[in-house]
Amino acid sequence: MLTGRFAPSPTGRMHAGNIYAALMAWLVAKQGGGDVVLRIEDLDAERSKPEYIEAIMRDFEYLGLTWDRGPYYQSDRRDVYEEACRDLESRGLLYPCFCTRADLHASSAPHRGEKAVYAGTCRHLTAEEREKRAQVRNPATRLAVPPETYEVADAVQGVYRQNLAEGCGDFLVRRSDGAHAYQLAVVIDDAEQGITSVVRGVDLLCSTPQQLYLQDLLGFDHPAYAHIPLLVAESNRRLSKRDRDASIESLICRFKTPAAIIGHIAGLTGIARCDDPAEPEDLLAQFDLAEYRARLADPVQIRWE
Ligand code: GLU
Repeated sequence: MLTGRFAPSPTGRMHAGNIYAALMAWLVAKQGGGDVVLRIEDLDAERSKPEYIEAIMRDFEYLGLTWDRGPYYQSDRRDVYEEACRDLESRGLLYPCFCTRADLHASSAPHRGEKAVYAGTCRHLTAEEREKRAQVRNPATRLAVPPETYEVADAVQGVYRQNLAEGCGDFLVRRSDGAHAYQLAVVIDDAEQGITSVVRGVDLLCSTPQQLYLQDLLGFDHPAYAHIPLLVAESNRRLSKRDRDASIESLICRFKTPAAIIGHIAGLTGIARCDDPAEPEDLLAQFDLAEYRARLADPVQIRWE
């Protein structure tokens, strides 16, 4: 059974980039006769707001982006994530990390667009050092990664390879405030919610090898991946909440109907050959992933207009 997912973080209203990702996830799942799961990624208690959760669900409904199961809330699943941590811990794969934000910043200088690779500072602390530091600071928890290369055959980006040690380093599974990290939660949820198709922005492509590694450790299957281009503003900056003209509120003012919004995004991104108003159901009849891929001039970014 093909199962896709919408996985919004409820830290604001939707914008064109979120709609594009959700539309693609929906088309890929529905075209294969599959289902879509709605999962609310609300682990960041400070930034997630109940009013955004409601607004996002209303916006999906308004746009005709239906889901078949859920919503599931990550904030309800902390025990499940903690159990996986205990399992990894008992196998000696985790270690406490006492680095502050400033330490992390000082020990790695990522180039623009690259993520910081953890230098491994806390990996080899002695038991005594750990105990001493734990008295002054709550540690975060990291997963020690091997110098192994993981490869994903992405439906849009092609083959992507990353050596875990060089490309990401030991990564967080739990923050120092106790919140479980995105990488861990997403892997457990994708597996337990039966997700076989992950469609999301290309900014998460470099997280995929970490997720494949965690899936192997926890005995889960690998879903299929499709990482789609980001919608960018004028200066090659990805769209964000700052870009008011791409917000759902502005899109409703500008286009008036959900079909006109969906049609515009489908035309701009190559989902459809033209930008005539269309409901997701209308696009489904002619959607073809290979044709969409062939129409993409740049698989990494598309200028928002
Ligand atoms: N919650 C993430 C977001 O809204 C998506 C994570 C994922 O698709 O794996 O950007």
